[in-house]
Amino acid sequence: MVHTCRHCKRTFTDELAYELHQDTCSSGQLYCDECGERFAERTATRDGWHYTCPTEDCDGTGIGEDIHQVRDARLEAP
Ligand SMILES: [Zn+2]
Ligand SMILES: [Zn+2]
Repeated sequence: MVHTCRHCKRTFTDELAYELHQDTCSSGQLYCDECGERFAERTATRDGWHYTCPTEDCDGTGIGEDIHQVRDARLEAP
């Protein structure tokens, strides 16, 4: 079975390599306004729709609300 990274479309035949990539894929990095932490998308959502900050004691939720794509932030950065 071939796994395709939904962020960068890179494909993996090795599931473990795919899992590891999901944690490091630069296209999947999110950050939280509430706590300022960065994390991989897969740690923040289970269904790809509802996002919650994986940081303990942080109640940041919502993609585009408290949680943002790092690449979007780069676009907005001066
Ligand atoms: Zn990727
Ligand atoms: Zn947070």
